[in-house]
Amino acid sequence: MIRINDIIDKVTEHNPDADLDIIDRAYIYSARVHEGQMRLSGEPYLTHPLEVAGILADMKLDSVSIAAALLHDVLEDTHATPEEIKEMFGQEVLHIVSGVTKLSSLKFNSSQARQAESIRKMLLAMADDIRVILIKLADRLHNMRTLQYHPKEQKRRAIAQETHDIYAPIAARLGIYWIKKELEDTSFKHLQPEEYSQIQALINKDKEERDKYVETVKDYIKRKMDENGLKCEVLGRYKYFYSIYKKMVIQKLAFEDVYDIIAFRIILDTIPQCYEALGLIHSLWKPVAKKFKDYIGVPKPNMYRSLHTTVIGPFGERIEIQIRTWEMDKVAKSGIAAHWGYKEGKRIDDKISKTFAWIQNLVEDQENIKNPDEFLESVRIDLFPDEVYVFTPRGEIRSIARGATPVDFAYLIHSDVGNQCTGAKVNGHIVPLQYQLKTGDTVEIITSRNHHPSKDWLKFVKTVKARSRIRQWIKTQEKERSFSLGREMCEKAFRKHKLKFTELVKSEEMEKVVEHLGFKKIDDLIVNVGYGKITPLQIIRKVVPKPELEEEHESLLNKLIGSVRKKKQGTGVIVQGVDDILLKFGKCCQPVPGDPITGYITQGYGVTVHRTSCVNALKMNPERQIDVEWDKNIAETYPVKICINSYDRVGLLADVAATISKNGSNILNAHTETKENKTVDTFFTITVATTEHLNSILAAIKKVKHVYQAKRRH
Ligand code: MN
Repeated sequence: MIRINDIIDKVTEHNPDADLDIIDRAYIYSARVHEGQMRLSGEPYLTHPLEVAGILADMKLDSVSIAAALLHDVLEDTHATPEEIKEMFGQEVLHIVSGVTKLSSLKFNSSQARQAESIRKMLLAMADDIRVILIKLADRLHNMRTLQYHPKEQKRRAIAQETHDIYAPIAARLGIYWIKKELEDTSFKHLQPEEYSQIQALINKDKEERDKYVETVKDYIKRKMDENGLKCEVLGRYKYFYSIYKKMVIQKLAFEDVYDIIAFRIILDTIPQCYEALGLIHSLWKPVAKKFKDYIGVPKPNMYRSLHTTVIGPFGERIEIQIRTWEMDKVAKSGIAAHWGYKEGKRIDDKISKTFAWIQNLVEDQENIKNPDEFLESVRIDLFPDEVYVFTPRGEIRSIARGATPVDFAYLIHSDVGNQCTGAKVNGHIVPLQYQLKTGDTVEIITSRNHHPSKDWLKFVKTVKARSRIRQWIKTQEKERSFSLGREMCEKAFRKHKLKFTELVKSEEMEKVVEHLGFKKIDDLIVNVGYGKITPLQIIRKVVPKPELEEEHESLLNKLIGSVRKKKQGTGVIVQGVDDILLKFGKCCQPVPGDPITGYITQGYGVTVHRTSCVNALKMNPERQIDVEWDKNIAETYPVKICINSYDRVGLLADVAATISKNGSNILNAHTETKENKTVDTFFTITVATTEHLNSILAAIKKVKHVYQAKRRH
């Protein structure tokens, strides 16, 4: 059992200047809060954080990591609070301990096995400090070492399976190969105990003899290399159990036929030496055909480089030999991130493998980083800057673009879920639809059959899918509404001509008109009337068959427009060729007679009138633009916003108000802002009949004492 002094020795060995005080204090604190707790092995609980800290000390991590390792279970399992940890050990330790606690709180069930890749990514994404994941791996390693004390077999198997699916690959991805191997072997032992002990027995059988054989071969190779002036180191060791088992299963081999249970490795200084050594080996022993691989000339996609050969050895047995430089050996051991992806038959993209290669360097070369700030800077990383990982209510993990909202998530699940999305709950609480999802969130979408997408969603959705589905929906809706609006407009205009649109629609004449105007179907034509691209009058002109009647109809049309003008009471605006159309004024620009105006067909509403200079109008689809004009015969008043700047004085507001009403206008709303420099800004909404009327009111206000500016807003 490891003791705190052993850990301190390990730390000082590679870093004599390490902060031992924080380690000491963490140890004392951890001992106090875990007091009385026991491990399933019957040992005091404290042995666990000590072992975890010991593993990290072996990995040569900094004092903060060691302290955090000693404290890694206190938030979850004791009365310790985050505040206390922060106060006693600082923000950094708290950050790491909280990170580990957060990871431990994630529970995965076996049905998620096929999501292993997502879970691995999620864990890595949540560990925003690489030390969090390193502690988590060490934690798991020690728990696996003591798994046999767990009383329930089912639970043991579940933990072993999770270790195999999630943690061993993470260790491999981080290039910490020895952890990966140990995790795989211990999970193998619990998942397939029979196969495990079988292999164990096979290896132990004749072990002495085999060990002697290894020494003999090693010595022989070493001597031959020395004779040829090749400075090298020769290694020979058993492959680990799980890899032997995999070989037996995948290659369907009997144990005796797995010839590379022992692998030999020759490590040299330079590449030319490697080829020289290879030549030498091949001259000593007969190479097995097709078993030679030159990964130095052609490295594996994961950057692995080495020469592999299989030869018939001194006793007629096959021997696998790897030849590489020290540098290549280092890369091979660290595995570099891509190793994992490569083994599973797919490549990880460049960016990720670079990140991991970099983490690997960080873990290995940490002692070379002199400046502690620099170290801190480099461990706080974002492994997956473009994605977040969230849960569905059923516990499935989905990855989605960073910045994505519940609406994006809803469309990710299904277009219908997106279209009917009315709200969302994140971790059980209602959130706004613009909420930005975070890794680890559980997202539940609330839908309603009668609900529809909103144009406003386009302002905050992040994913292409959501955006295109919302646009598609809006387009369909616009088309439907434009169709009924167009139909309504046509029916009314035709009626004025004593023509029945509903009957004519099916006529041959109409077919010709449709074709002539460049449409395929009558419906397309009607939609375009709704969009305002075509006026009903254009259709009527084509429908009326005899050219000689043209003039007569023209005058009829003029009469029609005249009648429209008269009927347009209550709005004061004429829409060309259309009668009884629903009209409203843009709140953004508040048009007043005299302003140049334009109309836009609004989905399902009719026409909205804007000033031609209105920024909103400029943004609208020109296809939906329709010409409108003021009806000069109508006396109406219109609201308009004005702004008055003045110097403050007693009675100012009263004087301005009096001036407005003297000029025949009503005040609908007033609001004053007094500035620090003794000036006042006053905002009024007043009623005016025309722009001339407005201008005369503004001119009168400007004459009020101390007013230096009066103008229309916008
Ligand atoms: Mn633990």
